[in-house]
Amino acid sequence: MIDLVEPRMSDVGGVTVARLLPRAVRRTIGAWCFVDHAGPVDVDVASMQVGPHPHIGLHTVSWMLAGELVHRDSLGSEQVLRPGQLNLMTAGHGIAHAEQVPSRARGEQHLLQLWVAQPESTRHGPPEFAHHADLPVVDVDGTTATVLVGALAGARSPARADTPLLGADLVVGTPTEVPVEPTFEHGILAVDRDLAVADGVVPAGTLGYLPPGADRIAVRPAGSDPVRALLLGGEPFPERIRMHWNFVARDDDELRRAVDEWNGGDDRFGPVGGGLARIPSPPVAPGRR
Ligand code: MN
Repeated sequence: MIDLVEPRMSDVGGVTVARLLPRAVRRTIGAWCFVDHAGPVDVDVASMQVGPHPHIGLHTVSWMLAGELVHRDSLGSEQVLRPGQLNLMTAGHGIAHAEQVPSRARGEQHLLQLWVAQPESTRHGPPEFAHHADLPVVDVDGTTATVLVGALAGARSPARADTPLLGADLVVGTPTEVPVEPTFEHGILAVDRDLAVADGVVPAGTLGYLPPGADRIAVRPAGSDPVRALLLGGEPFPERIRMHWNFVARDDDELRRAVDEWNGGDDRFGPVGGGLARIPSPPVAPGRR
């Protein structure tokens, strides 16, 4: 049977999100270390407004299923994100950004926001922002796959990946054997409906985990309608990471330094436009485990 990871509900910028990573039962899948599923929610009910906040040691991967989001960062980037497009921000040594649903937006907003831990070789490097509006789409036996990161069935994403990684948006219409790297572990999030995976079922809103070893993942809709799903994969991340708030590092001293530098207005994190209030970092709890 497939191992299931249940979400924990959290609030991000005024919107309830289902957090699927990190969880006690599973911290990472490859270098994927954070998965938030926000919405779908009508903009009249809740509208995500996340003020300037910092990141270190990770990439943020933002993928919209419906609606629009404006990204602004301390490199001066200002980018509208729409369905079918990917924002990939590299924090490295430090960056700050803000994200908000613009006031002109109408109707349903639905977002997947993910983080990828950077390896030691790049995590102290410069920050970077990229917007990918033209991602490869491949048909696999009646399942449509948009390749966000890495490669699937011969289609390769132009997005940066510092470690062996896969991220793909799937619309599963028929029973499909998705070809995968046997050295990767995988997670599959059933976004809108229940998805049959291997010999189990991943209920809508839940993440199923598959250990390394297989070169195919069998998926099919559990009901009669096509299922939207997010497939994540990667080689098990060999470095032990420590996370606090929006920071990924290797120990608490590094995390405390990042907290102090953000809260103290250090040059490490630049200013962000857009007019939203800056979000202060909570302290790292002393002696936490
Ligand atoms: Mn962020």
